[in-house]
Amino acid sequence: MTAGKKPVIFCDFDGTITLSDNIVAIMKHFKPEGYEPLMKRTVDQEITLREGVGNMFALLPSSRKDEIVDFVLSRAGIREGFREFLDYVKQENIEFYVTSGGMDFFIDPLLAPFDIPEGHIYCNSADFNGENIEISWPHPCQAPCDNGCGMCKTTVMRHFPEDQYERILIGDSLTDFEGAKIADMVYSRSILTDKCAELGVKHVPFQSFFDIMGDMKQKQQQGVL
Ligand code: MG
Ligand code: ZN
Repeated sequence: MTAGKKPVIFCDFDGTITLSDNIVAIMKHFKPEGYEPLMKRTVDQEITLREGVGNMFALLPSSRKDEIVDFVLSRAGIREGFREFLDYVKQENIEFYVTSGGMDFFIDPLLAPFDIPEGHIYCNSADFNGENIEISWPHPCQAPCDNGCGMCKTTVMRHFPEDQYERILIGDSLTDFEGAKIADMVYSRSILTDKCAELGVKHVPFQSFFDIMGDMKQKQQQGVL
């Protein structure tokens, strides 16, 4: 590393590490009564992500936990090159964090085979002890963010000061955009690519983690990372 700043990666989970969004998949499959308007209002940003996601999960009875877990684990695919990418960042001593608006009950088992160090996964938590599922939010927005993110990606990123860290964001959707604006480097796919292009945020599109690894290696060779 020659840039003087320490690189740190913030990687989204749903639709980035996995091939598609697991929360959307759960809702569309289990169709709890009343989820559709909540989903629409969340996507349209009429209500916060925290409110929308919390209220959608609250429509699902805790008794369906096993079915929901089995459903997610059986259908979620991991994006190509993820394991090789983790080997690369480990070898290069690049700090790697998963920053996800998803829930521990599907993220932890899906990431278990990858040996990501303790404390390097930021996500929300689901409680199945009550009648219905209750989401808790251990990493809420801190000033200046007041977007009701749920798991606040920019708050996590701000714990790594920009004068000391080269902050690298990997993501796919609108919920990654605020982080993309404050990142030094952005790897994007899907809607995040469109949004970055539209609003002039510098980004490198990717399809697999091999693409990201290739670009990072090239930047290391050029001495810009
Ligand atoms: Mg995502
Ligand atoms: Zn926030």
